Amino acid sequence: MPNPKRRHSKSRTGMRRAHDALVAPTIQLCPECKAPRLPHRACPGCGYYISAPTQTKRRNYSRQIFKPEE
Ligand SMILES: [Zn+2]
Repeated sequence: MPNPKRRHSKSRTGMRRAHDALVAPTIQLCPECKAPRLPHRACPGCGYYISAPTQTKRRNYSRQIFKPEE
């Protein structure tokens, strides 16, 4: 097993840990349905991306239209 030859200083540990802080993700509201979503992503609520439905969601909509009524 590889092992470190020497322990490093508390200063060096601190310098490494200075970059370990977590950053909260940027949340934006969907312009279509006002649901919170990540920027540059299709909306998880309505599937819209820049006011146009994405392929997968459009396929789901057509499936809903042709579903036989009970
Ligand atoms: Zn939406």
